[in-house]
Amino acid sequence: MKTIGLIGGMSWESSIEYERIIHEEVRARLGTTHSAKTIHWTFDFHEIEALQEAGDWETATAEMIRAATALETAGAELLLICTNTMHLMYDDVRDAVDIPVLHIADATADAIKEAGLESVGLLGTAYTMEQAFYRGRLEDPHGLAALIPGDAERADVHRIIYDELVRGDVRDTSRARCLEIIEGLVATGAEGIIAGCTEVELLVAAEDLDVPYFPTARIHALAAVDAALS
Ligand code: GLU
Repeated sequence: MKTIGLIGGMSWESSIEYERIIHEEVRARLGTTHSAKTIHWTFDFHEIEALQEAGDWETATAEMIRAATALETAGAELLLICTNTMHLMYDDVRDAVDIPVLHIADATADAIKEAGLESVGLLGTAYTMEQAFYRGRLEDPHGLAALIPGDAERADVHRIIYDELVRGDVRDTSRARCLEIIEGLVATGAEGIIAGCTEVELLVAAEDLDVPYFPTARIHALAAVDAALS
């Protein structure tokens, strides 16, 4: 079994879910007392959020590379960046290490294609919804169309993530707002919904939706188990 390195703490609310899902899955597959081999780096999310807000992607990238190389040196044999947003600097992180870095959008795209869908709605941070690094990858090489909500809706999702979910604050009113936004995406042609922020699946569950749901933290964590056991 390979050792999984997790670049986490963005936020820890979802990072602990990665750990739980990975260990549960390894136990389900191998049985008895088996668990995963992991090394987990967690940032203080407050510091990362400040860099994001300041648009200081250069320092943020340097921090991500510091985490990745430390995990590699410590013995990680594959890496996960446990957040959609920080895949913004995926290429730099990947190029800084000699071990595979599993891209969260690739794992998610594989699940969407397996479900036979071509057009999906995307909920995430403003960075993820609005910039090319994520939707562009879904489109090319995966051939998927990612629909995003309108301006006011994107602002609400972003606010719910940063003001509530990364602080462990899960509100029924915010769930209702997200479901309303999802309904709008489905009405404009989304055949499924990507929870494209690793905390969104802590708020909205598959059972809340009438269309297929793609919770990225779960999908990413399971892809890591596949890779670790292959
Ligand atoms: N966990 C979130 C994501 O998946 C947002 C926090 C961050 O900015 O990294 O995008």
